[in-house]
Amino acid sequence: MTKYVYDFSQGNKDMKDLLGGKGANLAEMTNMGLPVPPGFTITTEACLAYLEHGDHPTGLLDEVEEHLTRLERAMQKTLGEADDPLLVSVRSGAKFSMPGMMDTVLNLGLNDESVKGLARQSGDDLRFAHDAYRRFVQMFAKIVMEVPGDLFEHALDSAKQAKFEGAQDTDLDADDLRMLLEEFRAIYKKHVGSDFPQDPREQLRLAIEAVFRSWNGKRARDYRRQNKISDDLGTAVNIVAMVFGNRGDDSGTGVAFTRDPATGEKVPYGDYLPNAQGEDVVAGIRNTLPLADLARIDPVSYGELLQVMSTLERHYRDMCDIEFTIEKGRLWILQTRVGKRTAFAEWIMAYDMLEEGLISEDEALLRVDANRLEELFKRVISTEAAAQAKPIANGLNASPGAASGKVVFTADDAEAWARRGERVILVRRETTPDDYHGMIVSQGILTSAGGTNSHAAVVARGEGIPAVCGADQVKIDLRRKAFSADGTPVAEGDVITIDGFSGAVYVGELPLEESVLEKAREGDPVAGEAPIWKAFERLMRRADEVRRLRVRANADTPEQASNARERGAEGIGLCRTEHMFLGEERVEAVRRMIFAETPEEEQAAYDVLLPLQREDFVGIFRAMSGLPVTVRLLDPPLHEFLPNQVALAVEVALGRERGEDLEEQERLLRKVNELHEANPMLGLRGVRLGIVKPGLYAMQVRAIVEAAAQVKAEGGDPKVEIMIPLVATREELRQMLEELRPVAVRELDEAGQTLDHLEWGTMIELPRAAVTAGEIAEVADFFSFGTNDLTQTAFGFSRDDIGKFVGMYEERKLVPANPFVTVDRPGVGRLMQIASDEGRAANPSIHLGICGEHGGDPASVMFCHEIGLDYVSCSPFRVETARLAAGQVAVGTAEVTSR
Ligand code: ADP
Ligand code: MG
Ligand code: MG
Repeated sequence: MTKYVYDFSQGNKDMKDLLGGKGANLAEMTNMGLPVPPGFTITTEACLAYLEHGDHPTGLLDEVEEHLTRLERAMQKTLGEADDPLLVSVRSGAKFSMPGMMDTVLNLGLNDESVKGLARQSGDDLRFAHDAYRRFVQMFAKIVMEVPGDLFEHALDSAKQAKFEGAQDTDLDADDLRMLLEEFRAIYKKHVGSDFPQDPREQLRLAIEAVFRSWNGKRARDYRRQNKISDDLGTAVNIVAMVFGNRGDDSGTGVAFTRDPATGEKVPYGDYLPNAQGEDVVAGIRNTLPLADLARIDPVSYGELLQVMSTLERHYRDMCDIEFTIEKGRLWILQTRVGKRTAFAEWIMAYDMLEEGLISEDEALLRVDANRLEELFKRVISTEAAAQAKPIANGLNASPGAASGKVVFTADDAEAWARRGERVILVRRETTPDDYHGMIVSQGILTSAGGTNSHAAVVARGEGIPAVCGADQVKIDLRRKAFSADGTPVAEGDVITIDGFSGAVYVGELPLEESVLEKAREGDPVAGEAPIWKAFERLMRRADEVRRLRVRANADTPEQASNARERGAEGIGLCRTEHMFLGEERVEAVRRMIFAETPEEEQAAYDVLLPLQREDFVGIFRAMSGLPVTVRLLDPPLHEFLPNQVALAVEVALGRERGEDLEEQERLLRKVNELHEANPMLGLRGVRLGIVKPGLYAMQVRAIVEAAAQVKAEGGDPKVEIMIPLVATREELRQMLEELRPVAVRELDEAGQTLDHLEWGTMIELPRAAVTAGEIAEVADFFSFGTNDLTQTAFGFSRDDIGKFVGMYEERKLVPANPFVTVDRPGVGRLMQIASDEGRAANPSIHLGICGEHGGDPASVMFCHEIGLDYVSCSPFRVETARLAAGQVAVGTAEVTSR
């Protein structure tokens, strides 16, 4: 028969699946000999069985009774007995901590008789007994019977008011509380339809069932969806003998962290509330005292607590967070777990614990979260300014970093203002993919609707732009181009500051500071002494030592290239050449190329472009001397270099009406119409363009090789890799290279130079290329997975439009995660696996990389390690993230679950 109930002495910390986190750790502490009140845990399996069948599984209730009897014997009391009652708490506790799921019922076992017994037990302290009973009625009604909690809170407030102005709950005496209790019971009867249950065992059964059911409550489901926790885990139920922190001034309750969870500093940190029961600390009923005050109030218990904290920290080998209660000078520990901490504290603690010898170097490396590394480099509002300023709104901290700028309300305005050098904050109700061009030029983004997975949040995080989302106090009036929040009107052009770390929005420009890490990286000597920088350097050094993946960056300009190099990039994995076709002078030439009617006209256009392109490449090869640079030949369809079709058609139509001479525009429009494609992303682009316009790629190859020759002549060391995009068949690549290789040879001959590193390869970004990679590899020196297009073509999702429904897709678990953020292992990942295996088999010296957005996503980097790629390439500001993730996957899994 399945065992459904475990005494605290029977479990341990590794049994979280079965006993939940709270239960497993209560058991662990019991076995360590720490002062935990006795109790037992009903397993998550019992919960799942109950939920499946709508009834207790066979044997469960008997087992509970057996353990309860044992508990009664141990405590020498009987649950709810009239003279000397045993009271218990009934506490939910899933594998992962889920705040807001279901609360705890304390003081269970009280009824009209046992309340007198409790008073007697406590030296005729009627006040205490009534306080305990009214709390129990309140919690039981709210949590087990779902009576609206504010009814009780209002009644409590009026009782305090009636006592005297500003009275606190501790000012109510025994009589006040007795009257309040009457009122509570009346509320209960009115809403439940029956009297408050007096049978302690019935109270217990109802409470257990309520905890089971709470697993499927709306709050719990919402929380799980938001935090990607499985619905199949169930919750355990912990039954714990009560200890009382509300028995006078020598009692109290608190929460303690073994180190400061905000700064990471090695100092005990926490809150203490004298004469109170557990939930008061969190509920904010009265102002808590700093933990250190306990040293004065009760030095003996404080000393003991410090002892327990240090024992727990050595035992769990990590920072622990602890709930404790002191009853008449006696310390009890009611909960512990490895504590949550800020991204900043995470690094400090890992480094300190490594220095203290508490954990190994590799453990320290695994203690920091690569997904949060970027946060450490973001600008922050200076501490003094933040302390003084008052936010006009608070939203979700959707993308880290602080930013100030002038408010604009449309993406087009953002673009226009930014172009004339203004720093802007884009304020919208929500954003859509149509806003993208305005978002990426903004200092920050503020939305009044939408959650942490809204379009605005996802794009902002992806682009490293600070964002506050879902600030619903912000009321936007788009027609007047203004918003108001908290009574403050803000018009277009007014300056605001947003804090993507906290979600706060301020009027005016608050002083911002570079992060300590950014300052240190730029060589600031003071910042270079900061503990966070030491921690960063030390753990990054370890990541670099152990990682097998190389890390390159995607960079299109010399500035981006040097920036990436400073961050540790070991090459450029993707240098896009399309921006080299923009800018007035160039667009002119590009258009001439597009309009050319004879080979001579086309060549003339290339002759203009060639020297400009060469200069671009010279800058990049200089910046990356000694490191490989993968240059991708032109990829986008040509219409991107022409005016917008609709706008141009309107212009021509209007001009005609006015009888203007529009020969030039009409010619342009004809060409635009001619180039128009129904599906440009699947159209004449990439290698197809190279084949249709052979002079184009030849010109680019000439520019690249001439630039490399020049840099070599200067004493540099250019390492050139030329990459053909959007190849689907081996023949495409073979024929293309057959044309291009001789161009390079000729150029080098003419320049009288040789290059030791000149490779030719292709992107793998179409499913057909992936599954025929064995053939393609025969004619390629390297592959680079273009996972943006590969995801787009494998799913048939348009990357530019998926924002409209990807949130819903994630919510309904139709996809495990946004596949444009994290590589979809079973589908796209499998294509990559096939391509790398078969590519390697056909050409053992081929080298493999990835250059899609995924190259900077920790989970995807880990996947790339697993399938044996040689490098990942990511945007410059993700280089450190990728280095860290590559180091972590090399030493083990990033999940340290056994703590
Ligand atoms: P949560 O998971 O929301 O923290 P808990 O089950 O930990 O809920 O309980 C809420 C509060 O009640 C905590 O402060 C806890 O320490 C306190 N508490 C729980 N059980 C007992 C008990 N047996 N005796 C005294 N206080 C308790
Ligand atoms: Mg708790
Ligand atoms: Mg592509």
